[in-house]
Amino acid sequence: MDERRLTDTECALYGTKSCALLNMPDCDKCPLKGRVADPAIHDDLKLFCELQPEGTIASLFESETCTLCKGEPKGQASCYAVFDMAHTEPKKLAKRKLLSRQETGFMVPLQFACCGKCRRRILLQSYLPLITPIVLTLIVLPFVMIEHFAQTMRQVAGWLPFAVVAAAIIGGYGVGKLLSYLYKRRIESDMYVDVRTHPFVGAMTEKGWRPLFPDRTAHLAFTKKRIDRGLGTAPSAVYDLPDAVIRNDEEE
Ligand SMILES: [Zn+2]
Repeated sequence: MDERRLTDTECALYGTKSCALLNMPDCDKCPLKGRVADPAIHDDLKLFCELQPEGTIASLFESETCTLCKGEPKGQASCYAVFDMAHTEPKKLAKRKLLSRQETGFMVPLQFACCGKCRRRILLQSYLPLITPIVLTLIVLPFVMIEHFAQTMRQVAGWLPFAVVAAAIIGGYGVGKLLSYLYKRRIESDMYVDVRTHPFVGAMTEKGWRPLFPDRTAHLAFTKKRIDRGLGTAPSAVYDLPDAVIRNDEEE
């Protein structure tokens, strides 16, 4: 199971569940390298396991079928939709800032196994407010640039060509927003367009997790290869390992 290159046999985390949970590819890249004297790290990571909803966060990326499809049949997973969540616990972790760069405790990427169809739909839905003004502007631009039309417009009012372009951009954004909303309404019957409504995010929220950027709309990053290092990226089998105990070689 373990394909990681763990070289630092002196490390207090070597061979423990805590090490497996941190899931670093090798000891040199581990953020805890040379600073694992604090046994509280095992308590922190034990707490991390307790804060997992049923199935653990690993079930999202280990699924072979799409986790964003509703109902059956679900599409074959071909990429991952990443959504970051954070927890206020553990407080001391926030102070140490070892596992997290934010003023939060734990921070994990939720990696939803996702099919090609769901990915295309989410991207189209989120980019419609950008695509529509561009398309509209490209349609009106030739009319403004062709002298014959421009002249006719200027005869009505000098600012009219400019106003037409501005209307295409601003109006296009509004139309795009509306189209995006209508499109979302249409597709959300058979997929989770906004992952914040996903049952797993609901279960995470019940355990005290919050979206890392709660004020933003649920922005998803798509990736072909899943994030495979750091907290929350270890396979589900790791969570079943016996709890880590501090090795104290000097006492032996
Ligand atoms: Zn899907």
